[in-house]
Amino acid sequence: MSTPLPIVRTTQALRQQIKAWRRDGDLIALVPTMGALHEGHLDLVRLALRQSKRVVVSIFVNPTQFAPTEDLSRYPRDEAGDAEKLARTGCSLIWAPTPDIMYPSGFATRIIPAGVADGLETDTRPQFFGGVATVCCKLFSQVTPDIAVFGEKDYQQLCVVQQMVRDLDLPLGIVAAPTTREADGLAMSSRNAYLSPDQRTAAPALFRIMTELASQLKAGGSIHDVTTAARQQLNAAGFAKIDYVEIRNAKTLAPPIAGTDVPLRLLVAAWLGTTRLIDNITL
Ligand code: AMP
Repeated sequence: MSTPLPIVRTTQALRQQIKAWRRDGDLIALVPTMGALHEGHLDLVRLALRQSKRVVVSIFVNPTQFAPTEDLSRYPRDEAGDAEKLARTGCSLIWAPTPDIMYPSGFATRIIPAGVADGLETDTRPQFFGGVATVCCKLFSQVTPDIAVFGEKDYQQLCVVQQMVRDLDLPLGIVAAPTTREADGLAMSSRNAYLSPDQRTAAPALFRIMTELASQLKAGGSIHDVTTAARQQLNAAGFAKIDYVEIRNAKTLAPPIAGTDVPLRLLVAAWLGTTRLIDNITL
């Protein structure tokens, strides 16, 4: 058993601790999460620890980024298990505000990101990045970290946060962490817990098909042909519904312009039963 971690639930107690660390000249990193932590989250903490003495992990299942039809009430929660994992990893403090601390009665301000937030995720989840940007902005104000670490697993989200920090001159650096995968290639995700045994067996096809698409594109295949083939393969592998299979400019997330040589990213969102999986790779 490792020493239990402080779990802080009021902004006052949080600010007191941050102030004490600042007095000692410690650098502070923030890793925002929604809990139900897996190795991917812990890799973000390990990366943060390489750059900062103090790592705050926030655990907050943010209601404003869920649509009424989405999985807010059944989203997995395991604070005791999370605290145990974080203590072992070297995290300094858990910031776990309740919804009424985060959104007290009368709360009425929302950040509305555009640019990289347009399309892809927002084609089917229009409310999503407004909720993410607003809660991240609040987390940054509460914790005042030197850096915040985000996973490339949620690539468009990472781009949205980077853009918000630039646009609003927020005084912190955003660090991107590579995606942590299971041995069979499936990107780790708290939502993988929803998969039935059969769906879990089918799920690694997503990363395999994405990797094949990357090779076909490199071998000279056209974007239209390789994405069409990938959609068919995903359907055959059991992904009955596909939200998108898109190749985009890795920086702007705009569709690539033929003949230009810019870094590209493949982004996919597809459903196995009632579970939506997203993944992305560099091309
Ligand atoms: P979540 O708790 O799912 O909202 O994720 C919290 C943070 O962990 C986000 O920055 C995610 O991008 C990141 N994350 C989630 N899964 C992974 C993974 N498999 N590899 C790396 N980062 C991840």
